[in-house]
Amino acid sequence: MGYKAYSLRNFKEIPQIAKLSKEKIKDIEIVGRVLPFKTNSYVINELIDWDNYQNDPLFILTFPQRGMLSKEHYNIVEELYLRGANEKEILKTVNVIRQELNPHPAGQLEKNVPVYNGQRLNGVQHKYNETVLFFPSQGQTCHAYCTFCFRWPQFSGDHNLKQSTKEVSLLINYIKDNPEVTDLLFTGGDPMVMSANILSSYIDAVLEAKIPHLKTIRIGTKTLGFWPYRYLTDKDSDQIIDIFKRIVNSGLNLSIMAHFNHYRELESDAVLKAVKRIQSTGAIIRTQSPILNHINADSSVWRKMWKKQAGLGMIPYYMFIPRDTGAQKYFAVTLDSAYNIFKDAYSNVSGISRTVRGPSMSANSGKVKVEGVLNLEAGKAFILSFIQARDTSWVKKPFLAKYDDKAIWLDDLKPYSGEEKFFFDK
Ligand SMILES: *Cc1c(COP(=O)(O)O)cnc(C)c1O
Ligand code: SF4
Repeated sequence: MGYKAYSLRNFKEIPQIAKLSKEKIKDIEIVGRVLPFKTNSYVINELIDWDNYQNDPLFILTFPQRGMLSKEHYNIVEELYLRGANEKEILKTVNVIRQELNPHPAGQLEKNVPVYNGQRLNGVQHKYNETVLFFPSQGQTCHAYCTFCFRWPQFSGDHNLKQSTKEVSLLINYIKDNPEVTDLLFTGGDPMVMSANILSSYIDAVLEAKIPHLKTIRIGTKTLGFWPYRYLTDKDSDQIIDIFKRIVNSGLNLSIMAHFNHYRELESDAVLKAVKRIQSTGAIIRTQSPILNHINADSSVWRKMWKKQAGLGMIPYYMFIPRDTGAQKYFAVTLDSAYNIFKDAYSNVSGISRTVRGPSMSANSGKVKVEGVLNLEAGKAFILSFIQARDTSWVKKPFLAKYDDKAIWLDDLKPYSGEEKFFFDK
């Protein structure tokens, strides 16, 4: 199957676009100027239900929707669009809107960057003791873009092999010097957009280094959802499978951290074959997703998704609460509702699926999980706890926040004790 990508520039060439209303096409053109828009032939032909596009979770996952922008922002871009403003003017306005949507668009990549021998390790993050994150420069894009993702300020990918060799050798020295590190997580974007040659240049360097305390290589990827042919028919698919085998044969664990948002991503022949082919290398597939209004804010979707994953031998791992990105209002689910959806789905799957943890917020202080809601004499409370924390002594220590049925993020919560700040903000 040949990969073909579509963006704002060429999406009208997609035959199924003929099914959309004029209004919907205009919305794509307007919202797609501001939010990321890229989709591909697999998503279009094998995932989206075009007869029900208005409510189809897979359509909403990659095609910009009107509600993703505020009325005000929509109107500003619409005005430019209707009067045929030139590209320069549009870009200028769009950049201002993007800044407003996300005050620190590039901030994510600059946080938790270690300094090694006086040198900043760009493309590396080390926040939790055991796991180092690596953002290979050629892996900072994806086979399609999720409309809820605001990581695209980092979406580029134009670096040469020489630069990567330097990147990876610094990374290896850093891991060697940090014996608490057991896991190396390749992330992005999507590292599986890299060619097999580039991926193997990174992986082989790590394997050759034979770092005794390094036990697991993880690869975070959306390819099983967006382009399962990566493991089947791409011209370097066999090489990719070989790389996975080399990792496992070297004695390291390989964990594919697969990003799935809906059980429908687990139904095509291609994804089923890709899963089996990956598993045949000895790799383990773990799964994760944010909980998103309009896409999966329904316990039956999660129950079905976890059941299908477990049935395919995958290990459900995380349910995330989406962080404050551009279209947060559109996708937001209250903490209360996320907790109830998690609880309901979790209660109706076997123990094999109950490896999943969440719903969890990846905040500055750590990964904060909503454990439950308590009815106390002084009023309702959320029970929270850290799954991962900047300070390991915080992990698994329950703490209370005042219950707030509208809260969508940790910032919206106040300590139950009446204190101004939570202990981890002091
Ligand atoms: C989630 C996360 C990890 C990995 O945490 P695990 O609980 O080991 O999966 C590592 N680094 C950062 C910054 C993370 O957000
Ligand atoms: S696959 Fe991941 S990085 Fe890429 S657009 Fe989706 S959420 Fe963002």
